[in-house]
Amino acid sequence: MLIDSHCHLDFEAMAADLDGVMARAAAAGVSGMVTISTHVEKFSTYAGIAERFPNVWCSVGTHPHHADEELHIQTDDLVRLSVHPRCVAIGEAGLDYFYDNAPREAQATGLRRHIAAARITGLPLVIHSRKCDDDMAAILREETGQGAFPFLLHCFTASADLARTALELGGYISFSGIITFRNAEEIREVAKFVPADRYLVETDAPYLAPIPHRGQSNEPSFVRHTAEKLAEVRGITLEQLASETTRNFARLFAKTGLA
Ligand SMILES: [Zn+2]
Ligand SMILES: [Zn+2]
Repeated sequence: MLIDSHCHLDFEAMAADLDGVMARAAAAGVSGMVTISTHVEKFSTYAGIAERFPNVWCSVGTHPHHADEELHIQTDDLVRLSVHPRCVAIGEAGLDYFYDNAPREAQATGLRRHIAAARITGLPLVIHSRKCDDDMAAILREETGQGAFPFLLHCFTASADLARTALELGGYISFSGIITFRNAEEIREVAKFVPADRYLVETDAPYLAPIPHRGQSNEPSFVRHTAEKLAEVRGITLEQLASETTRNFARLFAKTGLA
């Protein structure tokens, strides 16, 4: 069995056919998924989806693209909403210097509030990190120094250096369909050295559909292609990869009760 640790089921492509998405996921051996929050103001939508399906959980957080729209959201708000029984993570929050959709200062402020919420609740922080390796490493080091918190670098596309920093600080790394793309050799190199107890798989659906679905709308069932590629890169069987990643998910997302 596989778990899609990161998808966005509220996006139109999937929201319009959630029963179909669930059926195709089950047929592909994908037995659980986390629908990830991009706007705290829409938390009731994510919680509502998670309440409908016993193997779907949700998170609470503001995507860095929207950091300036939700600067009024404080750590306390995140902590309060995370009490929902189906909410198993904080985020996604982070830094995205590729798109720079929100001012960098707002992104960093949001990230630090989410870190504080992860520290208080003990829930894992789902971190979005794009083209910001130096600043992300600095913030992770500084904040961890003030008190450890569980975290996951999701949809990993950064350097081996940032991967090593995250691992050294106790973090996890999640690989998406990008690992199947021809030009992703650097990411595959990282996938080779991440310890067996520190990595996960995800789709980030509806984005980033893996080969052979590249260009289509992504969905949780496609995490199987990412898992197959990752198993090949690591030189293990798909069964072993499924068992390692599911065990890691259960440990990190402990509130799911899967452990
Ligand atoms: Zn993201
Ligand atoms: Zn995402």
